[in-house]
Amino acid sequence: MRIAECGYAFPEALLEIYRSRGIVELYPPQEEAINAGLLEGKNLLAAIPTASGKTLIAELAMVRSILEGGKALYIVPLRALAAEKHAEFSKLSSVGISVGISTGDFDVRDEGLGEHDIIVATCEKVDSLIRNGASWIGELTCVVLDEVHLIDSPTRGPTLEMTVAKLKAMLPHLQIVALSATVANPEEVARWLDANLVVSDWRPVLLREGVFLDGVVEFSDGTMRQLKGGAEPISSLVESTVSEGGQCLVFESTRQNAESCAKRVASTTQRTLSEEDEQAVGEMADQIESTSDVLLVRKLAACVRRGAAFHHAGLDAQHRAIVERGFRSGHIKCVVSTPTLAFGLNLPARMVIIRGYRRYDPAYGSIPIPVLEYKQMAGRAGRPFLDPYGEAVLVAKSQDEAAYLMETYVRGEPERITSKLASESVLRSHILSLIASGFAKSLDGVVEFMRGTLYMCQQEGFSLSFVISSVIGVLEQMGMLTEESGVLVATPLGEKVSRLYIDPLSAHRMVRCLMSSIEPTPLTLVHVLCSTPDMRTLYVRSSEFDDVEAYIEEHAHEFYRIPPMESGEYDAFVREVKTARVLLEWMDEVPEDALCSRYRMGPGDIRALVETARWLAHALTELARLLHADAHGLASVIEKRMQYGVRQELLPLVRLKGIGRVRARRLYDAGYRTPDALAHNPEEVARIIGERTAKKLLLGIDVKGEGVQPPQRKLGEF
Ligand code: ADP
Repeated sequence: MRIAECGYAFPEALLEIYRSRGIVELYPPQEEAINAGLLEGKNLLAAIPTASGKTLIAELAMVRSILEGGKALYIVPLRALAAEKHAEFSKLSSVGISVGISTGDFDVRDEGLGEHDIIVATCEKVDSLIRNGASWIGELTCVVLDEVHLIDSPTRGPTLEMTVAKLKAMLPHLQIVALSATVANPEEVARWLDANLVVSDWRPVLLREGVFLDGVVEFSDGTMRQLKGGAEPISSLVESTVSEGGQCLVFESTRQNAESCAKRVASTTQRTLSEEDEQAVGEMADQIESTSDVLLVRKLAACVRRGAAFHHAGLDAQHRAIVERGFRSGHIKCVVSTPTLAFGLNLPARMVIIRGYRRYDPAYGSIPIPVLEYKQMAGRAGRPFLDPYGEAVLVAKSQDEAAYLMETYVRGEPERITSKLASESVLRSHILSLIASGFAKSLDGVVEFMRGTLYMCQQEGFSLSFVISSVIGVLEQMGMLTEESGVLVATPLGEKVSRLYIDPLSAHRMVRCLMSSIEPTPLTLVHVLCSTPDMRTLYVRSSEFDDVEAYIEEHAHEFYRIPPMESGEYDAFVREVKTARVLLEWMDEVPEDALCSRYRMGPGDIRALVETARWLAHALTELARLLHADAHGLASVIEKRMQYGVRQELLPLVRLKGIGRVRARRLYDAGYRTPDALAHNPEEVARIIGERTAKKLLLGIDVKGEGVQPPQRKLGEF
């Protein structure tokens, strides 16, 4: 079926956009989706492989909805993907469709977003917008759920499930388009969504899957490929693909393995670089090196210079972006990634090599990845129009392992996906929000609402009421819910906690700290942030233990609770304190490089840690305000210091655009304490922070934060 003959009169300008992208004829699963009522507003679940054109299915449904006067929401599982989808849909601006992206703080309504036709947001963000009463949610007519199989994830699944249930309850006529990888039970998920189902294993490029052992790849179709002997397995696989003009994506199980694998492979890729490649990767490496002195970053630059790269969460977003761009443009020949990033990394390659098929799980140790995840990785092999075929290869070390990998993964079927909703810790936050936002007013009301979840579809007849009633009891004890003439209502504290989008247990710990009799110091408050379930605390190596213990003893009077006696809890306390210490050093202006090497972290880890801490510090400030706690002033200063990574005296300066923690310190030490002072001596300021920054800064002193007065003099003389 040609897109122009799909039965819906899309504007010619839209068809032209598609033609320019090589899209004229619909792929078979897309045609099936249309036959299943996609363009008649029917709900649809498309469970089809990677690269089979899911995005176009979603796009056509959204555009139709908008052309008929509606508004669409595209829910992504990861923030990084939001930017990617936003960029992709922004191409629709030439047909008059505007696209917004919601990435801001959690406790705001983002009313401005409502002006857009398509809004891209993560699920957590959508949930928080509903909790905060964003009015445009009521105008939605089409919602896309990208990677809906993630409902199976214990960390992200429950929020997705509850958000969908809320949207269904609020908007009975909403069209839901859900996109999923191939799973074992798509019918169940479709039933939950009341959706027509399209299942297909069609792919635009042939995919061959196999297992590598002793220099030979055996594919599932019985064919074999002998590689050049002698070389290390990954290097020989990479060499065979790159020498024929392809690129490789390798999955390793740990960051360290990914880094050392990229280094080894780089000697292979280096030999394949053309002059143009060399020039391009050289520029990328220089760009990476110019950003930081951290060892990890230097290692990355060294690999990139030779045509290979590693990619994991320890890297900063800017470094990851350079690597992704370099790979897409074909100059970087091989990227080695950890599986945690697998589903956020949309980098198709001719060959996907899966060396690390095990992953560390805090509860079970090293475990093999699910078949579903393997299929997702393998599915990235073969770029439409660019590769004649795709190959996915698992690497084995023995005959037994090779047989295991062939049976389990290559010939294996993906798992069922199941709801992960029924745990107290997950329900705590969601039940509070249901009552605070008026979705339910009683235990029965909550149970009734839950009928809209996948959990209830899968556990027919089983009653959640026992867990729900116990959670309601806990929330009452925490002072967040109360019963008034037989009706459950959220207290002002409960309302606030729901809007702040933190775990009620986190809020409970913060309240306990704010109400305690100790005189809080920055350590007290930063430690309480680190003691909440919303913070992922840092691992403490055995060589660090004594040092952290000594610190705990030295600062014993500053903690809002005494260190616990029980050993598991004590270890958790030690982790909390180590994490708090890293954050305090960040706020005390310890350079990023020093933090990275002292604590063996990457810049990306620090960024993620600081971001979570800032969000929690904001929640602490808001709770302190609500409770009229004495610590309100200190909490608010900590929130700002956390954001910028500075001591208090630099706050007026870092609020200026273009002034980070390092420049602000230089200016302060030279005697400039306020934005006003800067404007009075432009030449000197230029000498300290460089002419270009000074010019930008002084020409239109633009304040990032609130409450800072612009200076009197402009820098016309410059
Ligand atoms: P998925 O989301 O299923 O992994 P995408 O939607 O990203 O896959 O599609 C993969 C690629 O195929 C994209 O580059 C897209 O532009 C292209 N594509 C999608 N549909 C068609 C089509 N009908 N004809 C040609 N190319 C298509």
